[in-house]
Amino acid sequence: MSKAVKVGKVVIGKGYPVSIQSMTNTRTTDVDATVKQIRELVAAGCEIVRVAVANLEGARSIREIKQLLGSDVPIVADVHYDHRLAIEAIKNGADKVRINPGNINQDWKIRELVQVAKEYSVPIRVGANSGSLRKEFEQKYDRITALGESALYEVRLLEKFGFFDIVISVKSTDVLETIKANEYVASKVEYPLHIGLTEAGVGETAIVKSSIAIGHLLLKGIGNTVRVSIAGDPIKEVIVARKILASVGLRKVGQVIACPTCGRCEIDVEKIAKTIEPLVEKTDLTVAVMGCIVNGVGEGRHADIGVAGTRQKAVIFESGKILKTIAPDTIVEELTRLIQQRIKTSPGS
Ligand code: SF4
Repeated sequence: MSKAVKVGKVVIGKGYPVSIQSMTNTRTTDVDATVKQIRELVAAGCEIVRVAVANLEGARSIREIKQLLGSDVPIVADVHYDHRLAIEAIKNGADKVRINPGNINQDWKIRELVQVAKEYSVPIRVGANSGSLRKEFEQKYDRITALGESALYEVRLLEKFGFFDIVISVKSTDVLETIKANEYVASKVEYPLHIGLTEAGVGETAIVKSSIAIGHLLLKGIGNTVRVSIAGDPIKEVIVARKILASVGLRKVGQVIACPTCGRCEIDVEKIAKTIEPLVEKTDLTVAVMGCIVNGVGEGRHADIGVAGTRQKAVIFESGKILKTIAPDTIVEELTRLIQQRIKTSPGS
């Protein structure tokens, strides 16, 4: 089991729940825009938020961002090249820093940063991605080993200065490389792993690649915090991450199951499912939308609530038992009412 690393209020590793991360795409110096996006990310289920720190003003903005936020979501400073930015970010409240010691490059700079990180009890994430392999490892090893060894080289740089509060990432744009490199690192050290692909792409491509890589690793018990990489709105990354964790049984997230539709289908399954999905995701219910009565009730019997429709009538069922028959044009309305009723009567609501 990996060791535990505390990032603000969130613990990564050692059997703690796998946490969801994302990264803002605002200028960190634009405090209002960054606070707004962090709030949106948190509302979507993000548990650790990373911000890019490109200059001293950005590092200092972290203090103001945290004050304005009014939430204790941990903030990670993403720093390259200049160790002073990482130090300044820590002094201004960053809960973790993500650096690449390889591009900071000099021992005394790493030593200075490590001293401050120790003093403030702030962990450091290091790692490698397919675009930043160390040349000597690239020449010596296959790409997977080179990726793993490049990350471990950075770990050893921190360890050399007595720093062990480390999270590691090894990322590639390639699914198999990412999986194998994480397996390699997990077999060598006990630090928690931040898993995900790098530059996974856009839309469905990014979702499919991330789901396979992250899902495979999590099912093997590897990975302690995840970041899905999708170009564009970071909220999508969080939504996909939640669905991945739910799919591998690590989170209970409300879900709509819908039949794939076939020649028997008589209602607009896709439209109904998409309409109710935002509400269902706020619950822990499974809601089935099935396109016909012939197979629908049976196939959807594992759902908490479901509908199976024809052009003339729709059957509403709960846990496989038929509850009532309604007019097809009232399906969304009726499902919404039943879901809201469940929300009101669930414990803790
Ligand atoms: S539930 Fe009915 S419409 Fe949907 S895929 Fe199955 S048989 Fe086809």
